[in-house]
Amino acid sequence: MSAIRIGIVGFGKIARDQHLPALNDNPAYELVAVASPSRVPDSLPHYTSMTAMLDAVPEMDAVALCVPPAVRYGLASEALARGCHVLLEKPPGATLAEVGELERQARVADRTLFASWHSRHAPAVAPAREWLKSRRIIGVDIEWKEDVCVWHPGQDWIWEPGGMGVFDPGINALSIATAILDEPFFFREGVLAVPDNRQAPIAADLGFASAAGYPVNAAFDFRQQGPQIWDIHIETDGGKLTLSKGGSQLLVDGELQLEAPEQEYPGLYQRFAELIGRGEHDVDASPLRHVADAFLLGRRVIVDPFHWQRD
Ligand code: NAP
Repeated sequence: MSAIRIGIVGFGKIARDQHLPALNDNPAYELVAVASPSRVPDSLPHYTSMTAMLDAVPEMDAVALCVPPAVRYGLASEALARGCHVLLEKPPGATLAEVGELERQARVADRTLFASWHSRHAPAVAPAREWLKSRRIIGVDIEWKEDVCVWHPGQDWIWEPGGMGVFDPGINALSIATAILDEPFFFREGVLAVPDNRQAPIAADLGFASAAGYPVNAAFDFRQQGPQIWDIHIETDGGKLTLSKGGSQLLVDGELQLEAPEQEYPGLYQRFAELIGRGEHDVDASPLRHVADAFLLGRRVIVDPFHWQRD
C-alpha cells in the first residue's frame, strides 16, 4: 500500500510535541503539509487554513485535526466531504451531537473517522484490562492532578465554553477507565470548581457508580504543584491494581509489574493506518459522555479567579 498522504491541521503544542514525530517515524504516512492560522512549521508547506491546504493539495488522503474542540466539527465535516480520512484529537468534539453526526457523515463519505484517545495507547492499559478480567472490582479511585500553567501554557481556549477546563486532561483518565472496566458506570454526583473569572472548571470531584454498584471516584485538579499525578487505583478481590504516570506503569499491591516508555502517539497512528486499510471507523464517545453528564448533574462552586501568572 502506498503511504497515506496526511496533513496536520492546528500546529499547536500537541501537534509539534507528538503528532509530528509520530508521523515522521511511521513509513505508513507521508506528512505533506500543515494548516494553522499563525504557527508555521520549519520545513513543511504551510497554509493558514485547512481549506487552503486541501485546495493546494487535492490528493491529500487524510488529515489529523489537532485544533481545540470547539472548531473541530466544521473542519472534520469539510475534510470528510472532500474525501479525506479524519483523525480527531481528543475530545472528539465540543458536543456529543456533533460527534454522532460526524460518524454518519463518515459512513456516507466512505472515509475513516477515528476519534482518538491517546491515553488508551499507554503501555500498561491493555495489561491492566487483562489483569482485571479475572478479578472482581470493589472500587476505583482516579487522581488526575496537573499544573495547567506547565501543560497548557497560555491556552485561553481551555477556559472557554467547550474548552472543558480540567476535563481536558481528566477525559484522558475517563478514556482509560472506559477501556479497562468491563461494566458501564454512571455519573451520580459531584462538584465542579469554576474560577470566578472563567467559564470552565479548574477542579472537579466526581462520584460515579458502576452498574453492579461499585464506586468510581475521580478527583481532577489543574492547580497541582510539585509532583504531577495521573493515577488510577482499582481495588479488587485479588489485590490492588494501580495504573500510574498516565498508564506507563502498572503496579499490583504497590509492586511494580510493568514500566515502559511512552508510545501513545505511535500506537495511535498505527491504529489509524489499520482502520484506513480495513475501511473501518473507531468512534467511541463514552469518555465525552461522562464529561457531559458531569456538566449536566454536577454542582458548581465558584472559586478564586485564575490568572496565568504565578508568583
Ligand atoms: P494549542 O497549543 O492551543 O494548539 C491548537 C492549535 O490549533 C493552535 O496552534 C491554533 O493555531 C490551531 N487552530 C485553531 N483554530 C484553527 C483552525 N480553524 N484551523 C486550523 N488551526 C486552528 O492546543 P493543544 O494543546 O495542541 O491542544 C489541541 C488539542 O489536542 C486539544 O483538543 C487537546 O485536548 C488535545 N491534546 C493536547 C495535549 C497537550 O498536552 N497539550 C495532549 C493531548 C491532546 P495557530 O497557533 O496557528 O493560530
